[in-house]
Amino acid sequence: MAENTVSRINVRGVNFNNTTLDGTVDALLAGVREKKQTALYTPNSEIVQACIEDESLYDVINSAELIIPDGIGVVKAAKILGTPFGAGKIAGCEVGEAFIKRLAETEYTVFLLGGKPGVAEQAAAKLTEKYPGIKFAGFHDGYFKKEGEENDAVIAQVNKSGADVLFVCLGAPAQEKWICANRAKLTSANALLGLGGSLDVYGGIVRRAPKIFISLGLEWFYRLICEPWRFKRMLKLPKFYFGTWVYKITGK
Ligand code: UDP
Repeated sequence: MAENTVSRINVRGVNFNNTTLDGTVDALLAGVREKKQTALYTPNSEIVQACIEDESLYDVINSAELIIPDGIGVVKAAKILGTPFGAGKIAGCEVGEAFIKRLAETEYTVFLLGGKPGVAEQAAAKLTEKYPGIKFAGFHDGYFKKEGEENDAVIAQVNKSGADVLFVCLGAPAQEKWICANRAKLTSANALLGLGGSLDVYGGIVRRAPKIFISLGLEWFYRLICEPWRFKRMLKLPKFYFGTWVYKITGK
């Protein structure tokens, strides 16, 4: 486990780090340098609500050394509960890109796992244009059986590549479950980042919300307009928000 010097804020049972984007990248790089395997998860309120509804998920989510609030709902809930985050929301895809920028100045290598076939390679090409020093050790799409022989073959490929850093972009909570179940078998990667749809963003397949939506805390709304099929998943958001008020008032 990586040493963790930053304070924690408990939001409805999930132990978030009260840190910054730079602090997160520093901790990831320290994990690689010191060969102390460090996992980063970036739960939003949908995932915290999923934990509330399925308590077994808490052990998975809380197993990471770094847990940052990638959602305005989590940030608001922390405020409601009287323990606000110093830095507010920290977007996982921004952490991933800032980490790539830092890694480009080093000899460390990155393996991209996840997304539809070809997306990881496309993301790597775009990231290389932006950060020419970055070195990719390998790629694999995210559509493989997450257990058994097929899974073992993916792990063997990552290990064989010798990658120091592994981006795991399988969607939440599948990627957190995958990291938690397989991290002990990953022999070279010492930074494991669960980053949802970030490869789609890096590859230019999905656009992030315009800055105005982000600054107004409405990135979720933009995603809902662009990807209306998310509606059912997003019903967890109001449930989480109002549930937090009930929790604050009744303690349950
Ligand atoms: N994905 C994957 N394997 C799967 C299911 C999904 O690699 O079995 C990828 C999918 O192609 C997409 C990402 O996981 O790139 C999920 O993106 P999303 O924005 O939905 O992430 P979330 O909001 O769940 O973190």
